[in-house]
Amino acid sequence: MDLDTVIARARRVAREVLGPESRSVDEERRWPESGIRALQDMRLTGLTVPEGQGGLGHGLLALARVCEELGRECASTSICFGMHAVGAAVIAAKATSIQQHELLSSIAEGKHITSLALSEPGTGTYFYYPQTKLSLHGEASLVLSGAKCFVTNGGHANSYVVSTVSADPDAPPGHFSCVVLPMDTKGMEWGPAWSGVGMRGNSSRSLQLDDVQIPRENLLGNEGDQIWYVFNVITPYFLVAMAGTYLGVASAALDDARRNLQERRHEHSGALLAENPIVQHRLGQTWAIVARTRALLYSAASKGDAGDPDALVALFSAKAEVADCAVDVVGQAITLSGGRGYRDGSRLERMLRDVQASHIMAPTTDTLRSWTGRALLGRPILGE
Ligand SMILES: Cc1cc2nc3c(=O)[nH]c(=O)nc-3n(C[C@H](O)[C@H](O)[C@H](O)COP(=O)(O)OP(=O)(O)OC[C@H]3O[C@@H](n4cnc5c(N)ncnc54)[C@H](O)[C@@H]3O)c2cc1C
Repeated sequence: MDLDTVIARARRVAREVLGPESRSVDEERRWPESGIRALQDMRLTGLTVPEGQGGLGHGLLALARVCEELGRECASTSICFGMHAVGAAVIAAKATSIQQHELLSSIAEGKHITSLALSEPGTGTYFYYPQTKLSLHGEASLVLSGAKCFVTNGGHANSYVVSTVSADPDAPPGHFSCVVLPMDTKGMEWGPAWSGVGMRGNSSRSLQLDDVQIPRENLLGNEGDQIWYVFNVITPYFLVAMAGTYLGVASAALDDARRNLQERRHEHSGALLAENPIVQHRLGQTWAIVARTRALLYSAASKGDAGDPDALVALFSAKAEVADCAVDVVGQAITLSGGRGYRDGSRLERMLRDVQASHIMAPTTDTLRSWTGRALLGRPILGE
């Protein structure tokens, strides 16, 4: 399926399913089941699965653009979709034939949602230093013990990509392993329902893992190649999913502001707000912020898809710029919309809450700025 068709399908699902449900998803703090099922029906949940396993075989640019379309209508659904797409890309990166057959094919067919369980309460924003333990249990099994937090799609996905300390006792610190954990495996215990300031449909729940036993075939890749996963798969896909989502929110906020300026007329003068040169100027500046941020994101994602060695730095900066852009633009849109935008329960009020997560979701904006600087200075990215 070519990119134009993918985007047209994403836009249709966003407008017909996500938009009408976005308010109740937020108010009821409900996981967006019908939005996710519509994306499955359109085959979009196979976006990052290789064509050989029946998926759409798309990369970073497509993920950024699909999340932008979804984020325009519902940031929660977009991140739920995005974390699934990142998880699918992580599984696909070094999938064994069993993983191709059992996981990727059913993801491509729209029968399986996965998600990422990397963050832990103990290490927080340092998602690449998991403390969850992985040990061998005989020849055929692995055993997991630890705690995860903020697992988007928590309790709803069919499987979770979980990071753990490497099972190899001789592995250097920071080396970890990823495994696929099927839902409802014995020993998994979900924490309370997710209740955030925003992103309320995310079901980003905590997960306790007590001696959870899984088959050895569920290990992803080989021991010791996990830093490769972090910088070649997890971080690029994670960054574009988040950046696309919050760019979509910024675009929608800009549209709301423009609509308000075109509709709002003052009785004393009979003039439309759109005729005022000060708001014209402010809208023009805001448009430029969105347009230049979009250009950076698309260019960074295209570089990533092309294997350009400069792509990682561009991707780091793109997500940081999108976070700054989204928070700024939603604030500008509320100013331009006056009391209507500031009203409790307005679309902009939800966006105001949702976009705060763009700085918090790891790698955070400050972390990304530092990583960019280190890379430009030829220093190790994860050095202190
Ligand atoms: C809506 C939502 C969805 C999420 N979904 C997922 C998911 O699906 N999977 C997943 O694995 N995780 C997910 N996360 C977790 C997220 O990516 C972060 O890892 C987590 O929120 C950060 O953990 P913490 O709150 O313990 O931050 P802390 O580690 O306590 O950090 C707090 C703040 O301190 C600052 N800080 C910390 N260290 C540094 C430093 N070295 N330099 C500069 N500043 C620093 C940062 O600003 C950071 O935001 C999600 C989070 C949210 C809010």
